[in-house]
Amino acid sequence: MILSAPDRYDVVVVGAGLAGTAASYLLAKAGMNVLCVERGEEPGTKNVMGGILYRQPTEKIIPGWWKDAPTERPIVDERLWLLTQDSMVQAGFRSARYGEEPYNAFSVLRVKFDKWFADQAIAAGATLVTNTVVEDVIRENGRVVGVKTGRDQGDIYANIVIAADGVNSLLSKRAGLHGELAPNQVALVTKEVINMSREKIEDRFLLNPNEGATIEIFGDSTMAMLGYGFIYTNRDSLSVGVGALLSDFIRKKINPNVLMEHFKNHPMVKKLLEGGEAKEYMAHMIPEGGAAAMPPVYSDGILVVGDAAGLSNPIYREGSNLALISAKLAVQVCVEAHQRGDFSAHALSRYKTLLDESFIMDDLRAYSKTSQFFQKKPEFLEKYPGLLVDALHELLTVDSVPKRAKQRKILRQVLANRRPWDLAKDAIGALRSLT
Ligand SMILES: Cc1cc2nc3c(=O)[nH]c(=O)nc-3n(C[C@H](O)[C@H](O)[C@H](O)COP(=O)(O)OP(=O)(O)OC[C@H]3O[C@@H](n4cnc5c(N)ncnc54)[C@H](O)[C@@H]3O)c2cc1C
Repeated sequence: MILSAPDRYDVVVVGAGLAGTAASYLLAKAGMNVLCVERGEEPGTKNVMGGILYRQPTEKIIPGWWKDAPTERPIVDERLWLLTQDSMVQAGFRSARYGEEPYNAFSVLRVKFDKWFADQAIAAGATLVTNTVVEDVIRENGRVVGVKTGRDQGDIYANIVIAADGVNSLLSKRAGLHGELAPNQVALVTKEVINMSREKIEDRFLLNPNEGATIEIFGDSTMAMLGYGFIYTNRDSLSVGVGALLSDFIRKKINPNVLMEHFKNHPMVKKLLEGGEAKEYMAHMIPEGGAAAMPPVYSDGILVVGDAAGLSNPIYREGSNLALISAKLAVQVCVEAHQRGDFSAHALSRYKTLLDESFIMDDLRAYSKTSQFFQKKPEFLEKYPGLLVDALHELLTVDSVPKRAKQRKILRQVLANRRPWDLAKDAIGALRSLT
């Protein structure tokens, strides 16, 4: 679509990712005149996600969405691995309930899902313009009144602009809401989609047809940087990724491609990927600062949603749900603002109040603590995985040594590496940071 300038809308949404499309859909449903501007050729082409999408939060946008949407597999099995160079400690949770309607979560490929999602927004009455980069906000008397696109005569005016342009949001920077992200507030993740037959996937991951699994992989997967790797099962491909804090990449001088190769070549990972054929490679950032790193999320004439607002909880692998729910809250505020004809920062501040009252801020405040704690404790990445694996080796190796002697040996080994007081402090600190 070619823009004819100047266009005027009730709301212009920048970015047709999960947050932007959810906002456009709900605004159109509420009878508002909404334009969504996306830089990619199609929604989904610029988006990177693991990608596990949760059923319940997405129902808050489109009830029953999963019956029609292009999903890959419902997730019934969630595993955690802790790797050292040659060993693995694993935990997991599998539930038959997750394999039944209405399901808990699905693996998705964003190229397919976002296209479908955007089609729903268009069918509801939203206008979508693709292949168009928003370059700046337009201000009048200090308030945001629209956006400038990279097209000729591409200025678009609106009562409210919603910045849904993802992590490191250009728009909120241009609106003066935040500066550059600090390297310890953002993770850099590379991801590959690896083709594999359905039968092989189901065989290797112990799945029935139409069942999916996730594996989150800590320890040696990230070369002792703060982050993790993942393997998620799609219908006939695997989504494989690994990432860490940008500050750790810089500090350790590790190239993200080197990390990916290291990850894929770990003996435990390699076995699962064997025979697969890489078909896509991509890299993206994830906001990692929690509540402490969030920018202001509103100002005169503008609201910020999803990753653009720093809404992400990587420890629980949640970002999509925060993007969708923040969009829903922003739409509620847009509708109220239009009813009153008041688009001031004061009127839009209600969005922050709604965020504060939702699970989102509760979780993000908790996540800030977790991230800050583990950043200060390299022992959890560099020392403890090895100690745990050595202890299990000792305990599980049957060699005619009495068990109590083995336990004493393990204790000696642990205490040789860490004083009891420090151990206790680490254990309590870790628990407190996670609760
Ligand atoms: C590797 C990886 C794995 C992840 N795995 C999971 C997972 O399994 N589960 C989960 O819940 N979350 C996961 N996340 C997080 C999740 O992907 C994000 O939280 C979610 O996509 C945020 O949605 P959003 O709409 O805010 O941003 P995005 O989906 O990033 O969308 C932003 C959109 O804005 C467009 N845009 C940007 N700038 C401009 C501009 N100037 N003009 C026009 N358009 C613009 C972009 O092209 C894009 O389409 C993962 C993230 C990564 C990187």
